[in-house]
Amino acid sequence: MQKGLLVVISGPSGAGKGTICKKLISSHPDIEISVSVTTRKPRETELEGVSYYFTSTEDFENRIKSNDFLEYASVYGNYYGTPKWKVLELVDQGKDVILEIDIQGALKVKEEYPEGVFIFILPPSLQELKKRITSRGTESKEDIIKRMECTYEELSYAFKYDYVVVNDYVEHAVEKIKSIIIAEKNKANRQISLINSIREA
Ligand code: 5GP
Repeated sequence: MQKGLLVVISGPSGAGKGTICKKLISSHPDIEISVSVTTRKPRETELEGVSYYFTSTEDFENRIKSNDFLEYASVYGNYYGTPKWKVLELVDQGKDVILEIDIQGALKVKEEYPEGVFIFILPPSLQELKKRITSRGTESKEDIIKRMECTYEELSYAFKYDYVVVNDYVEHAVEKIKSIIIAEKNKANRQISLINSIREA
């Protein structure tokens, strides 16, 4: 069986990664999204096991010791990590899996799993980015400043990704990502067993 794609999506806070991923999975039921573990406090609208698995710092650090994570990082003062076994199992079963993670995490996944597809989401402008984070109303003033300060540095990492998608309109960004997934699935190096089976028939 052909393995699924591991699609890693990153970008500055407020670039719209979450909305894009939600739309992507609702229009593409075959794609699974990896639910991360975090020590951040849940926001009002977030559900355990859906948005994240929320846990304590002590439990998270125990999981690090047990090698439970494909990658983990400390982002804006909290731990976030991708459960390793679940993700690799799904990919082995032929499922496409999306990881919506920060840049440090994406670079670690690239080392561990270079055959992943790495997509960087760009906001149309920094002004628009600030407007989006502020209007979301989920972060404190200090958190907004912290997130905006990180953005400048984060943008320089876009070149490490395979693709850059500007999120001017969510629908356009989702269409572009769907096209990337289709193109990646049709790459010659993913078709080797198909080509061989046709040649041998
Ligand atoms: P938020 O607190 O807004 O949900 O997420 C903050 C940042 O953490 C976002 O950039 C998000 O992509 C990132 N993030 C979420 N889950 C993970 C994860 O499992 N690993 C890493 N490295 N970053 C994550």
